Amino acid sequence: MEIDMANTTRSHKAQMVIDRLGKKLNRQIVGSLVACVHCGMCTDACHYVLANPGDPTYAPAYKADQIRKFFKRHYDWTGRVLPWWVKAKSLYTDEQLEELKDTVFGKCTNCRRCSINCPMGVDYATFNRMARGLLVSVGVMPEGVAVVSKDQWEIGNQMGVLKEDYLDTLEWLSDEMKEEYGDPNAIIPIDREDVDVVYSINPREAKYDPRTISDAALIFYQAGENWTMPSEGWDMTNFGLFSGDDDLGGAVARRLYEKVEELRGKKLVISECGHGYRSTRCEGQNWGGVDINFEMESSVITMLRYIRDGRIKVDKSKNKTPVTFHDSCNNARSCGLYEEPRELLQLVCEDFREMYPNRSENYCCTGGGGAMSMSEYTPRRLKSAKIKADQLTATGAEIVVTSCHNCVDGLNDLIKHYKLGMPVTQLVNLVANALVIEKKVVEVVPEIPEVAEVGDLAGYKILVTDDEPDFVIFASAILEDNGATVLQAHSGDEAVEIARREMPDLMTLDLSMPGMSGSDVFEVMRNDPELKSIPVCIITGQPELRKLIYDRHVQPPDGYVDKPINEEHLLLSVRRILELAHEKKVSGKKK
Ligand code: SF4
Ligand code: SF4
Repeated sequence: MEIDMANTTRSHKAQMVIDRLGKKLNRQIVGSLVACVHCGMCTDACHYVLANPGDPTYAPAYKADQIRKFFKRHYDWTGRVLPWWVKAKSLYTDEQLEELKDTVFGKCTNCRRCSINCPMGVDYATFNRMARGLLVSVGVMPEGVAVVSKDQWEIGNQMGVLKEDYLDTLEWLSDEMKEEYGDPNAIIPIDREDVDVVYSINPREAKYDPRTISDAALIFYQAGENWTMPSEGWDMTNFGLFSGDDDLGGAVARRLYEKVEELRGKKLVISECGHGYRSTRCEGQNWGGVDINFEMESSVITMLRYIRDGRIKVDKSKNKTPVTFHDSCNNARSCGLYEEPRELLQLVCEDFREMYPNRSENYCCTGGGGAMSMSEYTPRRLKSAKIKADQLTATGAEIVVTSCHNCVDGLNDLIKHYKLGMPVTQLVNLVANALVIEKKVVEVVPEIPEVAEVGDLAGYKILVTDDEPDFVIFASAILEDNGATVLQAHSGDEAVEIARREMPDLMTLDLSMPGMSGSDVFEVMRNDPELKSIPVCIITGQPELRKLIYDRHVQPPDGYVDKPINEEHLLLSVRRILELAHEKKVSGKKK
């Protein structure tokens, strides 16, 4: 039974935590603090619970109650009027703050798996992060959190990589690439202005894994990208997400945004890191109180686009070993990056084996939420990793792929502990390994949309399918201006009928149409012996609908273009698809 401490003098730190809690409350946090009905449906969602059966202190609802009780005591009328009824209790001592530290840092990785299993919409991880921030603000935190936060505040990156070491690393990687490809343009450009892509990385890459930088550089080089890496503000990770310190989160995000603006970059590409992607793309603007004037995307999407647009060629037979994919909690559950990494894997690996459960139901690598920096909790973390080890083993794969540097470390640690003997790698490494190296792409790619190409679609019959008449007119005009014979369909049924009658060389297909949807049409086409050879390019304004295509379990589309369409992009994709279809036909005849 807890002792009633109502008459105990409150410590200065406890008072500050209570006062600051009031400033952190917003609709989302209060909603989660008051909504729990203690149904227990989230309990088995947590990897800590699975590893500690019978210990209620690991249950998400129990952990949440440690925060909820002092919120109720001070900021909810039920707890002020009837504290005993709603189990409201205040905070008094520094020892209680230490106990809270053990819960919010040591028993939760903020993975959000419990959140998606809660019927009441309670997002425990959100207010667990808030509680971390309150403790950090009074200096109560694991030592590792203090050290990493200090490095990010003072040196500008969370691994304390000095500017000269970072630039030295880029320089030798650049020299190696120039030498290997015998091309003075095969370099890593630093601080180039007016570029299409500014590439930002996790400091772990510069310190421990420079191969990921050189692999990315090779991909940019092969794609003929107009890109650069910044000399400062290059760290896209953000320890503010883990420590709950919004001031740190805002300062780190602003450094990177300002550098991209200084370089007049059109797009910031974020290398494979779950928390870096979430912090930079989704949270940083709120923490930093800024608006930005450039696009941001994960390098997974960039690489996928390069392949789809024909800017790089890959040969999946170069990656024969069976691989499985671990969804990073931040990339997947928090940012919805589910399908793109899988599509990429299918394109660059021969044997991809899904892990179960996966996507939003995947288990944390157990190194998330900054856990890798908190060595005092290592035994607890590795014990909770048993479920992840079992998941990995069940796939039968020999390599595990993930799109997050934090997960690479978390997985490596548990793989060593459970003696699984599986190397961990990232998509960038597999894509680089699968590359079909071509010379002179630098000159070729930017020139592709030039007028010299006009007319080169002559002789091709292209079926444009979309329920929006304006779109059909616009896309048809572009294709006809380039010599194609265009057929038009305004519904799914009409598209299948015209395809069967006319056997076009290519079909463009909208996904969202009334009646027979684009994915229905696609499935019909792929399952029909006569129609399945017609290449299909999906054109959609809702990229999230691509999932519907994957759910059909048929051969993937031949290309994607996002709406609103851009003339150059459409032509580039169409030409590339026709070229590949032609190559396929020729090689088929030879056999
Ligand atoms: S599932 Fe939701 S409502 Fe039920 S105990 Fe967990 S947090 Fe509370
Ligand atoms: S966020 Fe993840 S680690 Fe934390 S309680 Fe929920 S399931 Fe467990």
